[in-house]
Amino acid sequence: MPVNIKTLIDDAQCYGTVRELRWPEGCQCPFCDSKRVIKRGFDEKEPAKQRYECKDCSKRFDDLADTIFAGHHQPLKVWVLCLCFMGLNLSNKQIAKKLDPNRTDVHKMTTQLREGVVKKSHK
Ligand SMILES: [Zn+2]
Repeated sequence: MPVNIKTLIDDAQCYGTVRELRWPEGCQCPFCDSKRVIKRGFDEKEPAKQRYECKDCSKRFDDLADTIFAGHHQPLKVWVLCLCFMGLNLSNKQIAKKLDPNRTDVHKMTTQLREGVVKKSHK
């Protein structure tokens, strides 16, 4: 039986990676850029997804708010693996093969990842 790489990494690591990518200097409100942010427990469906509340604008958000991962049908795991493989200089074809041979949106995903994980249209 082939080892499925998706079972080797856990969601907590994935969310940790996203936090480091988007907030290298610590959590920041995506609405007003305030750093006065408090933790507000975890998501009910995604227990590794941290939720926050901004002390300045009182808005609530989570780890994926305002990123290309939010609301995407691919699980975060697939994105993070995609990012890892890109770092190894694998081609889209090789990445697709590793993640799922039938996956057709790897090209779209790598394009988005190259442009950055935080949506630019927001500000
Ligand atoms: Zn705010």
